Amino acid sequence: MIKAVRGTRDLLPPDTALWNFVERKVREVFARYNYQEIRTPVFESTELFSRGVGEETDIVSKEMFTWEDKARAASEKTQSLTLRPENTAGVVRAYIEHELGRSGLLQKLYYIGPQFRRERPQKGRYRQFFQIGAEVIGPQTAGSELPMRDAEALDMLTSLMDAVGLKGWTLYLNSVGCQECRPRYNQALREALAGVKDKLCSDCQRRAETNPLRVLDCKVPEDQDIINALPKIAEYLDEGCRTHFAEVCAILDTLGVPYQVNPRMVRGLDYYTRTTFEFTHGELGAQSAMLGGGRYDGLSEQIGGPKAPGIGFAIGEDRLVLALQAQQTEAAEPLPAFVMPLGKGTNRHAMKLARELRSAGIAVDVSDESFRLKKSFETAEKLGAKYAVIVGENEVAADAFNVKDLKSGEQKTIARAELAAFLAG
Ligand code: AMP
Repeated sequence: MIKAVRGTRDLLPPDTALWNFVERKVREVFARYNYQEIRTPVFESTELFSRGVGEETDIVSKEMFTWEDKARAASEKTQSLTLRPENTAGVVRAYIEHELGRSGLLQKLYYIGPQFRRERPQKGRYRQFFQIGAEVIGPQTAGSELPMRDAEALDMLTSLMDAVGLKGWTLYLNSVGCQECRPRYNQALREALAGVKDKLCSDCQRRAETNPLRVLDCKVPEDQDIINALPKIAEYLDEGCRTHFAEVCAILDTLGVPYQVNPRMVRGLDYYTRTTFEFTHGELGAQSAMLGGGRYDGLSEQIGGPKAPGIGFAIGEDRLVLALQAQQTEAAEPLPAFVMPLGKGTNRHAMKLARELRSAGIAVDVSDESFRLKKSFETAEKLGAKYAVIVGENEVAADAFNVKDLKSGEQKTIARAELAAFLAG
């Protein structure tokens, strides 16, 4: 048997109803904040990610699906391509390529789509997974650098959580500073780590040398006391970063958006500057991060574009759906009616009635005249239909149909003209 590849999975009904519900709410809520959809390709040149996401990150150094795409004609070049591991770099590439900044307006863009990382699969962690993300990017003159934009993105996320009815999330917030002040913090960390490094886990000993910020992500219990005692980034932020972060917090306080400042949250991508954030959810177990994001004021320049500060986030849709399932959110709608032709030659009439009902906006399915009534009723039950509508010769002649409520067992004869309204009610 050929099976789905490790780390990929099929999303099947009825679960897909919940995915659709989430995506519908995303489109509704994001539109209220004036975001519009962008769709970028699922593969890009490898260079976009090595420059945009960063060579040193786990994603680029070990998790990408990359291949050499051979030239097939003299006009083509052999090039290295990669399945996108995240979508921010693609959106910023599109922003640069189409000169979206020329309008002078902020671009508020969102996407929904698959991303690919060769990670060790486990619950909540897949090699093909879905992200719902949004980016606000634009020239500085459009206000793309303002703390308001950060607060608005977070405000929108909490509105989305309310719209899908998710409870029990926590928003963690931090500032990772900018190109000026982060190196000073890195240096302080390096110095502090030099004294205690030997007492930390082997991963941390390596990180202390290569990328000291990553030590703050360590989950090894024995390391925690030492890490908590390391210098905090807040003490190293320069004036601009400090006031920016204070303003983000002040707006969130005014809006009543609850958050916790977590000085250890530095996130795994190199492009972040200033605000970073994560929403976690208790039901997700080891993979508790439901979404993450932050500001990336230098990303556009890093990949060859103009200065275009921005802020964005990506929700792990798989994890959001898992969290909703854990709190028993149901999105599958029952089928309103099952139309049951009865007797030879009645299929045509059943199809005609079904067509009328469907054009009136009612979802129906149709049985077959060769089925005995018992089999049709059993099918209706398996489908979870609310009503059975019997289309026999007598009904066709009378232009009125026998309708049975499959829960209560109650039966009624309803004229064709009134049927749609009855089923909709
Ligand atoms: P990142 O792009 O790494 O900041 O991740 C943003 C969000 O995407 C995370 O908070 C997760 O919810 C989700 N995510 C990242 N990697 C995976 C994965 N391998 N499988 C499922 N979800 C993921």
